[in-house]
Amino acid sequence: MKKIKRPQKNWKKFWKLGMEEFNTQYFDVNQNGDLVVKEGYYQYNIMDIVKKYGTVTRVFFPFILENRVRDLIELFNAYIKILNYRGKFYYHYVMKSNQNRDFVLAAIAEGAHIEVSSANELFLVKRMLEQDKFNRKIRITCNGPKTEQYIGLIEELREKGLIVIPIIENGEELNRLKKFKGEVGIRVNLDLKVDAHWDKKYNHFGFAEEELIKISKIRNLSMLHYHISTQNEKIEGFIKPLKRAIALYAILKQHNPNLDTINFGGGMAVPYEKRKKLFSTKNLVLQMIKTAKRESNKLGVRHPNLVCEWGSYFTAPSQITIFKILAEKNIFKKPDTKWYFIDGSFIAHLTDTWSPVHHKWHFVTANHLNTRRLQKVWFAGSTCDSDDRYTASGAYVLLPKFTEDVPDLYLVVFDTGSYQDTFQNSHCLLSKPAMVICQNGEVKLSRKRQTPEEIGKLFGWNGDHK
Ligand SMILES: *Cc1c(COP(=O)(O)O)cnc(C)c1O
Repeated sequence: MKKIKRPQKNWKKFWKLGMEEFNTQYFDVNQNGDLVVKEGYYQYNIMDIVKKYGTVTRVFFPFILENRVRDLIELFNAYIKILNYRGKFYYHYVMKSNQNRDFVLAAIAEGAHIEVSSANELFLVKRMLEQDKFNRKIRITCNGPKTEQYIGLIEELREKGLIVIPIIENGEELNRLKKFKGEVGIRVNLDLKVDAHWDKKYNHFGFAEEELIKISKIRNLSMLHYHISTQNEKIEGFIKPLKRAIALYAILKQHNPNLDTINFGGGMAVPYEKRKKLFSTKNLVLQMIKTAKRESNKLGVRHPNLVCEWGSYFTAPSQITIFKILAEKNIFKKPDTKWYFIDGSFIAHLTDTWSPVHHKWHFVTANHLNTRRLQKVWFAGSTCDSDDRYTASGAYVLLPKFTEDVPDLYLVVFDTGSYQDTFQNSHCLLSKPAMVICQNGEVKLSRKRQTPEEIGKLFGWNGDHK
């Protein structure tokens, strides 16, 4: 049996904690071998959360989200100034990447604008407006197909004084919005490919470049929007589309003089696996502004304002999910690896693991991180589905080994803050996890774990079990 690598002295480094390039700079191991998270001089011990709230629990760290939002806005504005770029920068928080109230409010507090993808998300924006949660200068881009209800809300919020920009997706919307009094955007399906997961040969979003050029004049057009893919791991994947979009912007501007903004969508990669370093955000931002400046100067057009709709880049690293490891089991015909069974599920709680994305994650435990005895493992989830597992594509995950000194283990999965909360489902009637928030040194329960009564109700089993 091949020997496995053993941690030497630096537990923190061994578990890939405290590394900015992996977004783990706030995580550390304390003297007991517990996982801790540091917010300035406050410190949270994940085992305290486990003891108080049990598992499965999601833990949200608003300061991580806030720092990321603030840093990115500052970075763009700094390079805009240094490079003497004439356009402005707007960051729009992508509601669909995490609609939890605490996430949305944290991002807005740091100066984020908003992007919504459905009427129901826009309804939440209306709620926030009624509750005075933001200042009225906020800008809202509206993506996704527009139902009458959606357009009704867009019109209502515009009349209330918000800058609500519907992004036109198809010919019906173009017609329907002809009399819209505010600015509109239009989505283009750029004719190029980048090397990323969702970059499909046939794309059903937006208009082809040629179609847009043919339409020519679009009333109140201010924004050209594209969204190429997600988890885009190469700088070229941002620069190529930007160049192409600026060429189109220059053409469209001839008949649409108010067009002044390019919205480059989402797709910024998150280093989920923490194996290799990705490019730095700083370098990417520098390259993007240089490109925007050079290309628009070349074509003799005004530097466009830039709108960013990165979603997971902000939300993913702001949350972890904790499970209990319930049991271990031999893997038949694979003697060097064991199954570790968790009290939650890769299908119900980390749904992207099971979706076509085949999401990879970084795992550590909340306790015993200073043990020298490790075990190669695969994970099994708690639903009865044979796909409810994580086998690291046939490789393995290293975790502490169960021994007399290590009788209990809690699993921590990193970067669970984007999309998983809405993708979650009730397979085998597993409960929705509890949600806990760590902020300013305080740990508070934001949402209780779903009870048997609550989950039963969703399926018609009312209180008296009629
Ligand atoms: C999903 C989506 C985003 C965010 O994508 P990420 O990969 O999470 O950055 C941004 N804009 C649009 C239009 C989207 O559909």
